[in-house]
Amino acid sequence: MTNSVRVRFAPSPTGYPHVGNIRTALFNWLFARHSGGTFIVRVEDTDVARKVEGAVEAILDGLRWLGLDWDEGPYYQSQRLELYHEAAQRLVSQGDAYYCYCSPQRLEEMRAEQVRRKQPPGYDRRCRDLTEKERAEKEAEGITPVVRFKTPLSGQTRFNDLIWGEVVFENDTIDDFVLLKSDGYPTYHLANVVDDHLMEITHVLRAEEWLSSTPRHRLLYQALGFEPPQFAHLPMILGADRAKLSKRHGAVSITEYREQGYLPEAMVNFLALLGWSLDDKTEILPQPELISSFSLERVSRTAAILNRDKLNWMNGVYIRSLSLEDFTQRALPFLDSGLPAEVKRPLSIDYIRRIMPLIQERARTLAEVAELAQFFFVDQLDYAPGLLIGKGMNQKSASQALETAKQRLEPLEVFDAESLEVVLRPLAEELGLKTGQLFGALRVAVTGRTAAPPLFQTMSVLGRERCLRRIEAALDRLRQGGR
Ligand code: GLU
Repeated sequence: MTNSVRVRFAPSPTGYPHVGNIRTALFNWLFARHSGGTFIVRVEDTDVARKVEGAVEAILDGLRWLGLDWDEGPYYQSQRLELYHEAAQRLVSQGDAYYCYCSPQRLEEMRAEQVRRKQPPGYDRRCRDLTEKERAEKEAEGITPVVRFKTPLSGQTRFNDLIWGEVVFENDTIDDFVLLKSDGYPTYHLANVVDDHLMEITHVLRAEEWLSSTPRHRLLYQALGFEPPQFAHLPMILGADRAKLSKRHGAVSITEYREQGYLPEAMVNFLALLGWSLDDKTEILPQPELISSFSLERVSRTAAILNRDKLNWMNGVYIRSLSLEDFTQRALPFLDSGLPAEVKRPLSIDYIRRIMPLIQERARTLAEVAELAQFFFVDQLDYAPGLLIGKGMNQKSASQALETAKQRLEPLEVFDAESLEVVLRPLAEELGLKTGQLFGALRVAVTGRTAAPPLFQTMSVLGRERCLRRIEAALDRLRQGGR
């Protein structure tokens, strides 16, 4: 099929996989999957100085983790250099590009001068019209030139962006940008255009920051006689303070989100809503629904705000939608790394299986699981003894309550939630306490916390021996002076 959608994700391996880039990947992927098209990964590794070891793997891992499978690639631009050379040569011989021999030092001085005079930055075109003789002289000096595009000096470059509508740039604001660098590598502009053409890309979905590069690309398409793809520039992503998303807003690498215990399903849903929406209310859209409903018409121009609270909430929703076994399996590595070293390894999977239903209800991230479940595992609980003495109680009534509860629990044969309730609920009245007072003291005694999963279920999972030992320890603390 000649007119089917072909899109690409074209990361530069210059650092960690930023969520903004991953959002771009996701929109391309959703667009491809929605339209039955092809999703291509192309690594734009032509900036040798900025290349970061391991970045490609981290980016690809991020895509795999999110389930963004690709149909072609990864292609590497560094392995396609001759294609860019050919294009540059062709432009030079057509008169649409030229060799520039200006030294980095001269360019630097020129820039400084432009800044001083408050002029717009840009190459002053000194080499644009060198004579054959001048060129030969430069060559004889042994200078390796760069190739620059001969940008039209007047007129306009216009195109229709699928999100921004008609965009117009005055050509005289575009300088003679470099196509081939002196190290033999192409610039982003040249490689991007040549590859989008050769890979038959139909739609370029990329971040808004590239919008100002697009007129250059359009000029290149024109000069090379290539038909340009359609462009759709995705809105920026900002932090809650409306500043450009950066490290100080918390995690910005997809790897970090993964390590913090966000589910890939939740991440996909969350990222999809950064700049796209189904309507003005639907938040939970699992992957199949995203694919079926995604469209560029509903991509917004307004910057998207990355709201961590919303992500936490959404992740909690996805956590609760997992089967218990799935949740348990995903939580295991986080328990293993998150529980204190004193907890004996390997952890008992049977015990974990009984704990997890209580945690699944409350956890917003997998990393939180270790923290929420910690009291199930440690020997010594660490809490202020004063917590045992609830409102309207004193040391004496708290001790009496815990002592009596202990006596009633000791002979219990069956230690399940119902049996515990049958024994403990009437006990409150018998002691002249509100249930909240008795249960509060017990909760602190057995969990060390004032907020924990439902008390009887928690006690049942902890088991009789552990509960009794903990109540005994609580009584000791009260004896040693309460508050
Ligand atoms: N390599 C560019 C980037 O890192 C790609 C921009 C584009 O998609 O054209 O974002």
